[in-house]
Amino acid sequence: MNKFWSSAVTRTEPYIPGEQMETKDLLKLNTNENPYPPSPKVMEAIQAELNRKLRRYPSPTVDTLREKIATYYQLNADQVFVGNGSDEVLAFSFMAFFEPGKTIRFPNITYSFYPVYAKLFDISYEEVRLNRDFSIAVDKFFHSDGGVIFPNPNAPTSLYLNLTHIIDIIENNPNSVVIIDEAYIDFAKESAVSLVNKYENLLVVQTMSKSRSLAGLRVGYAMGHPMLIEALNRVKNSFNSYTIDRLAIAGAEAAIMDVDYFNEITQNVIRTREWVARDLKKIGFTLLPSDTNFLFIRHYKIEAYEIYALLKEQNILTRHFNKPLIDNYLRITIGTNDDMTVLISKLKSIISVKK
Ligand code: PMP
Repeated sequence: MNKFWSSAVTRTEPYIPGEQMETKDLLKLNTNENPYPPSPKVMEAIQAELNRKLRRYPSPTVDTLREKIATYYQLNADQVFVGNGSDEVLAFSFMAFFEPGKTIRFPNITYSFYPVYAKLFDISYEEVRLNRDFSIAVDKFFHSDGGVIFPNPNAPTSLYLNLTHIIDIIENNPNSVVIIDEAYIDFAKESAVSLVNKYENLLVVQTMSKSRSLAGLRVGYAMGHPMLIEALNRVKNSFNSYTIDRLAIAGAEAAIMDVDYFNEITQNVIRTREWVARDLKKIGFTLLPSDTNFLFIRHYKIEAYEIYALLKEQNILTRHFNKPLIDNYLRITIGTNDDMTVLISKLKSIISVKK
């Protein structure tokens, strides 16, 4: 501990992000990035912005992007907040809606950023055990004192929770905010965005990092009642007036408008996921039914960490979580068909040499 550190720093455990190696010929299947490039219209928009206005500050209210996101989801711009990746949007949400002295709830197996934020902002939390089949224990989220947050689909389990259950959780928490982190929703079924006009305690957070291939641009957004959006704006303004830069705004606007390209690459990822799941089962893997761009798998013969290490030796990066309950699972991002053909053949040889 350093004598200059505040209690916020000492409370906080560093988040361990997925490995970000830039080695040549690396097959990177560890952080759920999209294997396809962003829409060509994104590149054009960023280039046009580069040629034009970089010497000027971006709009402090990011109106044009918020309007385009609102149009896409059939909302009004005052129901949309944008930030520097959904991680930033989530951090602002913790500050805006969760209180020190009250206890929030999230699942015990979930996105590992939540406990990090809770500790940083001094918010106590209760980790609600998943059911034995890894599904979310819906009624254990009723009547929380300080609020609820979880991803849908959940990460790293890849499981989707039906909207009827989400509605139950929202309706049974009338006095606190329920945040649904929909980082992977475009690879799943229905989004909770359709409920935003009905429930003033619902905040839906999404990102351009996964289904729109823009992890490097850092654009995330929240959608909710204008009163919730106003709270996020107040919190943000005390930090920085300009959440995202001109290039990110231009690129994100082009991305949200290019619906055809988005549909095409999302469907490609889903199709690849389905055949990969079938092939993995054929070679003895057990996996949870995925509604995301990744698979959560284990093999009865080999420890997950060993598979992770053997793949890494062969320049294939996957994600292993050294945590109770899931330490025998491996999370594998869906790549292109070619990427996954390479992966399956390496897995076959790893398994075949194991007695
Ligand atoms: N939520 C979940 C569940 C995630 O898995 C991720 C990505 N690791 C994020 C939020 C953050 O994504 P980003 O900051 O790139 O929008």
